[in-house]
Amino acid sequence: MASGKPKVVFVLGGPGAGKGTQCQRIVEKYGFVHLSAGDLLREERAREGSEYGEQIEYHIRNGSIVPVKVTCSLLENAMNHNIKQFGKNKFLIDGFPRNQDNLDGWNEQMSDKTEILFVLFFNCSEDICTERCLGRGKSGSGRSDDNAESVKKRINTYNNDSLPIIEHFKELNLVREIDASLSADEVFAKVQQVFNECSAVGAGGDQ
Ligand code: UDP
Ligand code: MG
Repeated sequence: MASGKPKVVFVLGGPGAGKGTQCQRIVEKYGFVHLSAGDLLREERAREGSEYGEQIEYHIRNGSIVPVKVTCSLLENAMNHNIKQFGKNKFLIDGFPRNQDNLDGWNEQMSDKTEILFVLFFNCSEDICTERCLGRGKSGSGRSDDNAESVKKRINTYNNDSLPIIEHFKELNLVREIDASLSADEVFAKVQQVFNECSAVGAGGDQ
């Protein structure tokens, strides 16, 4: 049975830094639920009858950020679903919060209901981020934003809007920074050190 407030790890880093890849591995080893804000938005965009589809597509292509009311509600619904249906209480929130509006919205809607364990920050140079996104686009990611123009805008948004949020979490001593330019295996070795050091994570399994 889940007990206490749901535990949250925010996973941040530039586009293509490897957040999704590492999150999959964390899920397997530590039993977290992976909620990618970007994936939830893409699902909502594809949902028939969604009133937000066009707005979401505009922001994704433009590398700008969807208003937090939309994103935060998708996150809260997905958390509640996993809590009620599967008794889960550990969540990786990937790619959120990425600007001040996201952070304010989360604090208003979710901070009393959750416990932030730490912020996992995948740090990676712009060149590597760009290369990885374009490579992913070429190998058929199917994402409308894995093209040169959108990647450039996403990196701008990251530098201007997301880095200050990471700085804010650094001041709160919550950031665990990892060099994401290494291979996926090497990065995961470092990720495991971080999770193993956090007593609230517990061993693998459902909790
Ligand atoms: N996005 C957003 N709010 C979020 C997460 C994502 O508006 O909280 C939008 C934004 O336009 C972003 C796009 O979704 O550029 C893709 O995000 P995703 O996290 O999938 O990209 P990644 O960082 O994994 O490359
Ligand atoms: Mg992602």
